Amino acid sequence: MATQDASPSGVSFGTDEETRLILSSLEEFIEAEVAPLEDELGETWTNPRKRHEDDGRFVPEVQDAIQEVRRRSADAGFYAMNLAEDVGGEDVSSVTWYRAIKHVASLGPGLSEFVLAGPEGPKPLLAQAEGDQIESYLLPCVRGEKSTAFAQTEPGVGSDSPNMATTAERDGDEWVLDGRKQWITNAPYADFVQVFARTTPQEEAGRYGGITCFIVEEGEYEVGSLNNAVGMIGMQAELSFDGVRIPADRVLGTEDGAFYDAMAFLSLGRLEIAARAVGLAEFLLNRGVGYANEREAFGRSIGTFQGVSHKLARGRANTFAADAAGLRLAWLMDQGEQAIEESSIVKYLASNVVFDVADDVVQVHGGNGLSEDNPFMDGLQTGRILRIVEGTDEIQLNTIAKQLGVE
Ligand SMILES: Cc1cc2nc3c(=O)[nH]c(=O)nc-3n(C[C@H](O)[C@H](O)[C@H](O)COP(=O)(O)OP(=O)(O)OC[C@H]3O[C@@H](n4cnc5c(N)ncnc54)[C@H](O)[C@@H]3O)c2cc1C
Repeated sequence: MATQDASPSGVSFGTDEETRLILSSLEEFIEAEVAPLEDELGETWTNPRKRHEDDGRFVPEVQDAIQEVRRRSADAGFYAMNLAEDVGGEDVSSVTWYRAIKHVASLGPGLSEFVLAGPEGPKPLLAQAEGDQIESYLLPCVRGEKSTAFAQTEPGVGSDSPNMATTAERDGDEWVLDGRKQWITNAPYADFVQVFARTTPQEEAGRYGGITCFIVEEGEYEVGSLNNAVGMIGMQAELSFDGVRIPADRVLGTEDGAFYDAMAFLSLGRLEIAARAVGLAEFLLNRGVGYANEREAFGRSIGTFQGVSHKLARGRANTFAADAAGLRLAWLMDQGEQAIEESSIVKYLASNVVFDVADDVVQVHGGNGLSEDNPFMDGLQTGRILRIVEGTDEIQLNTIAKQLGVE
């Protein structure tokens, strides 16, 4: 496990040697193994109109390239390096994982977004796999050979997910699943999905009890319309389960306890969002600074106008604070803390910071900021999305308020 340099006071923000090596190797890997895939795709990658089918789905060449990125990254030991070594991970610390995600995001958008396992890759929830599930689902996912999806949200519930309408009923050696999910990341391409369903009524099991997670294979469910989020076209879709029968050994984790299983990993999801947000904010700020120094108006570089320089300075200050908070959260998680309040604070802070930075960097670029040839509006849309996924701003503030004792 990677440890961080410790100072005499016990607090360190330094990057240890192993993490430094991981970050520089990641950069080399992206240049040597990911950028050529983008080059091969050419306009199919750079032109959003060619990247997608009419319904938003990625065209097959792009799907193949994404899968290839995952496989190469897994071969190189990056893809799921935060997982334990006994399931094929590298057991790196949360601090190192945070830094790695942030670093990749700070290099800018592209196929590199698939280098480190996101919701479509193996997560601690899947790492609970037992028996045949390990060979059939977990390990192929860790090796980047299969991809998955985490299906909780439904047309009727998102934030209030324990109120889900999807049910599963036991029938002999099988479970019968009925319900619909939506906004499920990677649903159009997944080899299998991890589906949350109510297995015991709330009246008996309580609000958070009575929910079970099932592994359901592609072909057993129907992929419906894509939910094309502006800024993330082609990634999410609806799923329907209409009397789907699956064997009893496809329960993942604890029967009736999936919600608690998932809550144990809540902070990790929020940390990952924060890392991505901070990295993207750094990327956008760098581009903003470059443009502010180069672009001239009224006979001087626009960066000499305080109206411009203060936007960038404020962005830097807020990004610095979000980064420090992200590191603190990662450190707490490495101490074995669940860090519920801190993960809400960090997720809320970082996603708002990147949204504000992106908006300011669009403004600094003037008309060019709006051009689809530039990544700034994309950054703004990503920032907007990050304020909704993994718990909205309001849900994070509710958690913080509750921890404060304001109810
Ligand atoms: C790009 C993208 C990817 C996603 N990927 C996945 C995925 O892989 N798997 C998955 O299961 N889901 C996924 N989601 C769904 C996502 O988790 C939900 O959209 C999110 O949890 C919010 O739920 P909702 O959209 O139903 O909004 P709602 O819960 O209906 O909320 C609507 C509004 O009401 C507010 N609100 C609700 N309850 C409260 C409250 N108690 N207090 C204050 N305000 C409240 C919310 O903050 C929000 O502003 C994804 C969504 C998007 C956009």
